[in-house]
Amino acid sequence: MDRLLTGLQPSGALTIGNYCGGISQIVNYQNEYETFLFVPDMHAITVPQDPEALHRNIINAIAMYIACGVNPDLPNMHIYIQSENLYHANLSWIFECFTPHGDLTRMHQFKAKSALHETFTEGLVTYPDLMAADILLYDPKYVPTGIDQKQHVELARNIAIRFNNRFGELFRVPEPLIPSVGAKIRDLQSPENKMSKSSTNPKASVFLSDSEKDIRKKIMSAVTDSDGVISFDEQNKPGVSNLLTIYSVFAGVNLEDAVTQFDGAGYGDLKKAAAEAVVSKVIPFRDKYNEVISSGIINDILNSGREYSTEIAREKYELVRRAVGFGRI
Ligand code: ATP
Ligand code: MG
Repeated sequence: MDRLLTGLQPSGALTIGNYCGGISQIVNYQNEYETFLFVPDMHAITVPQDPEALHRNIINAIAMYIACGVNPDLPNMHIYIQSENLYHANLSWIFECFTPHGDLTRMHQFKAKSALHETFTEGLVTYPDLMAADILLYDPKYVPTGIDQKQHVELARNIAIRFNNRFGELFRVPEPLIPSVGAKIRDLQSPENKMSKSSTNPKASVFLSDSEKDIRKKIMSAVTDSDGVISFDEQNKPGVSNLLTIYSVFAGVNLEDAVTQFDGAGYGDLKKAAAEAVVSKVIPFRDKYNEVISSGIINDILNSGREYSTEIAREKYELVRRAVGFGRI
């Protein structure tokens, strides 16, 4: 079975963007691939985190994956916490020592996140090396992701190719798996930006844990434009295009059909339909989420994920360690 691998940072509550770019793809492909789904808590601390909130977000994320349809009972599903598997950090260090600094500082995410803070940490710079380690330890064929992480997956590919050329075939070169619609759900208040779970504006993002009332309120107050025409044009009409995308993904309607359906309608109609589609999909997750949280299954899932992922990662790390000349002959 080929492998899929993805992770969603526990840097806040999961958004409908995370659902589109990450979770829904895992759910769609989980029967066809061996799946490595991890919580990148080590990535989350590249920006400041409250430790208690971080612990909580980790467990809440796992429960939400399962509530969204990830099946932890599949023998080919492995769910684990990044920091519980020490090989990620070990391999990341090796990559840091082989990656030119300029390759890291030109990353879009580094530029965007470093601009938000007066100072930034080394971890924010080397984030893509750790992400490359997360991926390359497991030889996945695909990395399901939104468009924002494409550049990091490309860097991981380059690292894999560089190592394979220098040391022999060590890594499978992975490919990003990006959905054709919903790869970049936009911020509801600043639609030129992507929606992010760590956004400081609570009206900007719809969280999978939001109440029905909040989902409707946030989508109804989404920023659009003043020309009053519904058409899909991400460059010139990012807000309206975002609502069409959200409607398309959550109502299960093809994007072209959605555009036709709302031809001549008002923005209010589109917002109502988008809100309705999100509510119908997301609100039922809540019961399952509460059931998972109270069932006590999360610890067992994470223990077996840690054991299995550590086995696989250890084997790969041993190969790399020898290849670069560490330790004794
Ligand atoms: P943060 O603000 O902390 O970076 P985030 O919302 O960007 O959080 P990540 O943990 O960085 O979420 O990314 C998790 C997954 O969700 C990745 O596959 C990423 O590509 C995807 N993703 C994130 N935001 C969006 C979005 N707006 N639209 C589609 N996919 C997204
Ligand atoms: Mg992000």
